[in-house]
Amino acid sequence: MLSPVDISIVIPIYNEEANIPALYDRLRSVLDPMGRTYEFVFVNDGSRDQSLKLIRLLADRDERVRYIDFSRNFGHQIAVTAGLDLAAGNAAVIIDADLQDPPELIPQLYKRLQEGFEVVYAKRRTRQGESAAKKYTAKLFYRLLASITNISIPVDTGDFRIISRKVIDALKMMPEQNKFIRGQISWIGYRQTYIEYDRAERAGGQTGYTYRKMIRLALDGITGFSDLPLKVATISGFLVSGIAFLVMLYTLYSRFITGDYQPGWASLMVSILFLGGVQLIAVGIIGEYIARLSANVRQRPLYIISDTNIPLPVEQPQHS
Ligand code: UDP
Ligand code: MG
Repeated sequence: MLSPVDISIVIPIYNEEANIPALYDRLRSVLDPMGRTYEFVFVNDGSRDQSLKLIRLLADRDERVRYIDFSRNFGHQIAVTAGLDLAAGNAAVIIDADLQDPPELIPQLYKRLQEGFEVVYAKRRTRQGESAAKKYTAKLFYRLLASITNISIPVDTGDFRIISRKVIDALKMMPEQNKFIRGQISWIGYRQTYIEYDRAERAGGQTGYTYRKMIRLALDGITGFSDLPLKVATISGFLVSGIAFLVMLYTLYSRFITGDYQPGWASLMVSILFLGGVQLIAVGIIGEYIARLSANVRQRPLYIISDTNIPLPVEQPQHS
C-alpha cells in the first residue's frame, strides 16, 4: 500500500491532450498553497490522442503523478471507479479533465469536509457553453431521476466532489457493473453537503460524452436505483387489460344484443397497434433490467489495466 496522502485527485481522461498541461498547472497552483500532501491519479480511458504521453511526461517530472492506463475505452464512470480503487488519499476529489469543474473550488470542498462531512459535492448553479439540448435533457433527467428513486440523488450535480476515505471504502464494496457513482454515493449516506458554482465551458478539445453514452448513463442511473419502470409496465398492463375487457363487453353487446355493428377495420387496427406498442415497451423495460442482471452475473473485471505506476494490491489478480 502507498503511504497515505491527504488528498487524491482522481481525473478520468479521454482524449484530453488539449487540457492536461493547463489542468496540471491550475491544480498545482490551487493545491500547493493548501499545505496538504496530495497525489494525482490520472486514469487514461483509452484515449486515441497524445494524452497518455503527456501524463507520462508529468509523471517523470513529478512523483506525485500516478496514472492508470486502460486497455481500451471503458467509460467515464469506470475510469473514476478505477481511480478511486487505487487512490491512497484520506480523501479524494473527483474532477473532470476539461476544466469545466474549477480546481479553485477544491479548498472550499476540503474545508467543508474538515467540518465533519463525508461528502461535499459541487452543485451547478449555471452551465455555460453547452447546447440547449444538452442542458435541457440533463435538467429533465436529474428531475426524473429524483422523482422516481427512493434515495435522494442531488439534482444538477455531476461527479465533481470530495469524498472521505470512509466513502471510498464503501464504494469499493459495491460490486455492480453498471456504475452510477453519484447515485451510489447518495445510497451510502453519511453527512453530505454541497457548495454551488457556475460551470464553465470546456477549456479545449471536444466532449467525450456522446448522446449514446449519455443515454446509457441515464439508464444505468434509473435501473440501478429504481424499480418504478417495471411497476409502470405492470400497472399499464392492468390498465390496458381493463380497458380491453370493457371494449370486449361492448363488442359482444353490439354483436348479439343490439345487432348494430359495422365491419370494424379502424378500431381493430388501433387496438392491435396500441396493444402491440404497450407490450413492446414493457418487454423493453424488462430487457433493460435483464441486460444489467446478466452483466452482473458474468462477473467480469470492471476494467483491464494495461499500464500503471501505482503498485497494485496483490488481492486483485484480475487487474495485472
Ligand atoms: N471521459 C472518460 N471516458 C469517456 C468519456 C469521457 O474518461 O468515455 C472523461 C473526460 O476526459 C472528462 C470527463 O470524463 O475528464 C467528462 O467528460 P466530458 O467533458 O466529455 O463530458 P461533458 O462535460 O461533456 O458531459
Ligand atoms: Mg466536460
